[in-house]
Amino acid sequence: MSSAPHKPLVYIISAPSGSGKSTLVKELLKLVPDLDFSISYTTRAPRGSEQNGKQYYFVSRSEFDKMVREDEFLEHAEVFGNCYGTARRFLRDAEKNAHDLLLDIDVQGAEQIRCKLPDAVSIFILPPDRKTLEERLRKRSEDREEVIQRRLVTASREIQNYGRYNYILINDRLPESIEMLRAIVCAKRCLRDGQPLTGACGETMKIADRCRLANVSDRLKPILASFESAIESGAGQSLVTVLGVANHTASAFRGTMVRQVFGGHERPPGAPTFGTQKKSHYWGRES
Ligand code: ADP
Ligand code: 5GP
Repeated sequence: MSSAPHKPLVYIISAPSGSGKSTLVKELLKLVPDLDFSISYTTRAPRGSEQNGKQYYFVSRSEFDKMVREDEFLEHAEVFGNCYGTARRFLRDAEKNAHDLLLDIDVQGAEQIRCKLPDAVSIFILPPDRKTLEERLRKRSEDREEVIQRRLVTASREIQNYGRYNYILINDRLPESIEMLRAIVCAKRCLRDGQPLTGACGETMKIADRCRLANVSDRLKPILASFESAIESGAGQSLVTVLGVANHTASAFRGTMVRQVFGGHERPPGAPTFGTQKKSHYWGRES
């Protein structure tokens, strides 16, 4: 008698660049067995010590477009002016090997996966505040100043999507963050496997629950405010410089940014609110 095919649990992880996502994912993969990492395809050039087939598959634009035409991607999107995509074959392989699958994708990709795989578990990683994000981007020393400034501005837009994720992980102290991420992944496995929710599973569920929106709401407020006040106080000037907007339009431009970044999200009940409340979305795309 053949048993039902394994249905992989799919975990989506999104975060503003520099929040510590790669660091956390690397540690998670060491701790959790039978969890595959989907290596994305990208048209961007390798950074630092990145190797083809390890962090990404680095492909040309024409190779990427061919994969799109041949429907090889589960999702794909343009981020920071480059194309990124998740190959369907990673999901097929996880199914075949009875593994689960982890996707490190941006907010646009996350939305596409939610539509196709509504059971996917989504996790949004946040830095403790904007200043820390900036420090981490600099500490990584992989990007030019202009790129760091662009990433900070994009972060302000991306974080507005936090409410669409099942879990929010504030990456402050690394060991705690690793433990919380492990708990989120394992909690879902406990439920899938019908394990008794006592003992180790019960503990894991409790830790994971601390990352539910309702339970992080108070900690979120100052984080979001740090991004908002940076824009209001003129950190948007950097964006103005980056985008080459003339000085006399700078304050009008900053006003637009404040409206776009902090008025663009329909918040779930209980979530902190900022600024005006328009219902359009800003997906964190570089414009
Ligand atoms: P991302 O993948 O989100 O772009 P990285 O994992 O590359 O970010 O992390 C950016 C920098 O921040 C790296 O230098 C990393 O070592 C550091 N970092 C990550 N998490 C923490 C943390 N919890 N505390 C201090 N530094 C951290
Ligand atoms: P980086 O170039 O810094 O590695 O990644 C930039 C952004 O692209 C990150 O937010 C990362 O999560 C996202 N990303 C990486 N791979 C994919 C993918 O396959 N699809 C989508 N939509 N985003 C991706």
